[in-house]
Amino acid sequence: MKIRILGAHSTEAKTARCISILIDDTLAIDAGSLAASLSLAGQKKLKAILLTHAHFDHIKDIPLVALNLYRMNAAIGVYSLPQVGSSIVKHLLDGRIYPLLQELPVEKPTVTFHDVAAYHEYKVGGYSVLPVFVNHDGNTVGYQISDIAGKTMFYTSDTGPGLGECWRRLSFQLLIIDTTFPNSYEKYARDTGHLTPSLLYAELTDLRRIKGSLPRVVVVHRDPLMETKTAKELEEVASSLGIPITLADEGMRLNL
Ligand SMILES: [Zn+2]
Ligand SMILES: [Zn+2]
Repeated sequence: MKIRILGAHSTEAKTARCISILIDDTLAIDAGSLAASLSLAGQKKLKAILLTHAHFDHIKDIPLVALNLYRMNAAIGVYSLPQVGSSIVKHLLDGRIYPLLQELPVEKPTVTFHDVAAYHEYKVGGYSVLPVFVNHDGNTVGYQISDIAGKTMFYTSDTGPGLGECWRRLSFQLLIIDTTFPNSYEKYARDTGHLTPSLLYAELTDLRRIKGSLPRVVVVHRDPLMETKTAKELEEVASSLGIPITLADEGMRLNL
């Protein structure tokens, strides 16, 4: 499984892109920077997009990718909780903000929305995909994704603390996890459903207690305004746990 981090942050600026992860060039998770990061040929290779929730930094490039695919006579499946697909139809692909690409072209619409439910496994483009609830906004899933070779990763999406249920249900070799804010923002992180380095430490300690060991850990969704501080605190977490923790950056490639 070849994984590329297209966007590693919680917002966009010259040196930061919104969260988006690409697997084997064909399966995307979240669409914060799919159009911004991929050539048109790269966008044409996409077979499916899994969306974790409806916040703008995760769905931003859906309209642009959809229009590009429409113009290249290609099509794509978008998988999400039902509320996420309906928010996109209501607020973005609504015929005013952007064209109704879920209805056009009439013979074979460019975008097909597929509903997923947490804790049900789906086959998407040759992968097994398992959505699980995480602690963010009341309507967010992370995805465990496995390929036919048995390589498995889990992307939490945005999440606050309390991932014990995920740790018990899932089994993966790579964990891609939210750490948005530094430790001084713990109350704000808890209120908005995100992790800080010290909250990450508690979650990883819990994961190690349940599984007996830790997987490879990659941190995403850092707030670029405070990322120097967050990075320093993550170094301390890595040294306390005795494991490497990788800070994802735009364009980073990971092989599983
Ligand atoms: Zn986000
Ligand atoms: Zn969010």
